[in-house]
Amino acid sequence: MELLEKLSNIPGVSGFEHEAQELVREELRPYADELWTDRMGNVIALKKASKPSREKPLRLLYSAHIDEIGFMVRHIDERGFLAFAPIGGFDPRTLPSHRVTIHGTAGGTTTRLEGVIPTKPGWLTDPDDRKRVIPIEELFVDTGLSAERVRAAVQVGDAISLSKTFEILNDEIVTGRNFDDRIGTYSLIDSFRKIENNTVDVYAVSSVQEEVGVRGVPTAAHAIEADICVAIDGSLPGDIPFARTTQEQCALGGGTGIYLMDNRTIGDRDLLRGLMETCEKHGIPYQRNIGGGTDASAVQRAGLGAKATTIGAPTRYMHSTVQMCHVRDIQATADLLACFPRYAHEIIPDDWR
Ligand SMILES: [Zn+2]
Repeated sequence: MELLEKLSNIPGVSGFEHEAQELVREELRPYADELWTDRMGNVIALKKASKPSREKPLRLLYSAHIDEIGFMVRHIDERGFLAFAPIGGFDPRTLPSHRVTIHGTAGGTTTRLEGVIPTKPGWLTDPDDRKRVIPIEELFVDTGLSAERVRAAVQVGDAISLSKTFEILNDEIVTGRNFDDRIGTYSLIDSFRKIENNTVDVYAVSSVQEEVGVRGVPTAAHAIEADICVAIDGSLPGDIPFARTTQEQCALGGGTGIYLMDNRTIGDRDLLRGLMETCEKHGIPYQRNIGGGTDASAVQRAGLGAKATTIGAPTRYMHSTVQMCHVRDIQATADLLACFPRYAHEIIPDDWR
């Protein structure tokens, strides 16, 4: 739980992942045969096959994106209020009344200022205002400080992240602002520590810029030339009051979600079978998921192609400020990632290239 909390609290808006990636490097280093960062900012760790199934071991790529959605300072007005541009797909309905952190870089030093995204106060609203969703372009950040003080710390282009931190909500239910995809990063690191008897080389990729259209992982895919790819991201739980019965698929607490298909990838049949058989062998709970879109899409079609899909804990309310998961689903994801490298070679026949 301690690592999950640390990962969930460290800021890392798309394009500003450096600090979070440092933490990932530290966590992966003791378990990696090789560790490097590429020019996009992806962190890549290799654990070589300890029981290779063939002379040149197959390569299995795990990818979890480290970036979280956030904002960039677009303008500082004469009273010190900050206008911002979205980085990634925030739902604007969820933003008013939230606390944010501005990562100021003015004057060559890093200064963190705290702020709020206010909503129009009641005494200034008319009936139409109450029905209207305020678009992101009209929202602003208020630090309560003078324009002078704000300008001394913050400049246009600085990142803004949500301030909400990790919490244990009830029993094994946890909330955080960025479980998409920090629960994936957690599962990636936790599994990497436990992999043994692996018949394939395992590459753990902590990718950048997924939230702005899967921009980070392609360079890592190019370098690794993976045979098999499992991306780790949130699954879509339909067990909420907003979903119709026909939209129900994964449920909180039901195990890791295995993506059969999403908007960008159709899960490879052999890989799906391999993952499900691994779950059954090791008593790991899993569910069948139809998802959004992940890093798997880019790795699947890079170079000569890879057998690809995605797994991950059901995450309620992704792309909002209050994301919710069940600890057991996160652990099931990590367990599947830890066990699969023993069997991964079985899904690619020896005479395939
Ligand atoms: Zn994601």
